[in-house]
Amino acid sequence: MHILPPLSFEYTALEPHIDARTMEIHYTKHHQAYVDKLNAALEKHADLQSLSVEALLGKLSSLPEEIKMAVRNHGGGHANHSLFWSILGVGTTEAQAPTLVAALTKTFGSMDVFKQKFAEAAGGQFGSGWAWLVQKIDGTLAVNSTPNQDSPLLQADKPIIGLDVWEHAYYLKYQNKRPDYIQAFWQVLDWAKVEACYAAVVQ
Ligand code: MN
Repeated sequence: MHILPPLSFEYTALEPHIDARTMEIHYTKHHQAYVDKLNAALEKHADLQSLSVEALLGKLSSLPEEIKMAVRNHGGGHANHSLFWSILGVGTTEAQAPTLVAALTKTFGSMDVFKQKFAEAAGGQFGSGWAWLVQKIDGTLAVNSTPNQDSPLLQADKPIIGLDVWEHAYYLKYQNKRPDYIQAFWQVLDWAKVEACYAAVVQ
């Protein structure tokens, strides 16, 4: 049984960058719906119920046909949002992610270039989707985007930073101004948590 992971912060914690109303609806309605629909899809597949959502996404092609799309969409939604909440918070700086910052600087030339490429991926994703910093299977870092709730795990990419660019993530506060929301993201990215996420990925 998959469950909504507890948040480590209050709905108001990310104000004014992400407003409390958006945070509450996003977490209790949108994310909960992905969890519920994933559980419903697995109801008749007892053998798959003990697998983590990451494990399910990693073996999507070998899952029964009748649940593939549900796991891709709702399992992806569950995994993507769980990562997203886990890297949000305020009050940290890049200095708290020394290993990741060094790797990003080596890969992209500077943090500014990394952030620019990430913002381009987030802004350029047509319609709903996500922007990502991932570690590729060869160990290199890359910025990309996925449509809908497709998880990077479908491509064997390990997600380190994810930004939800579905309108439900920002519309109440930002309306059509997705670029403003993308810039605000840097104010609520918890670098200490991202460093921990990177450490777990490179293990
Ligand atoms: Mn979302």
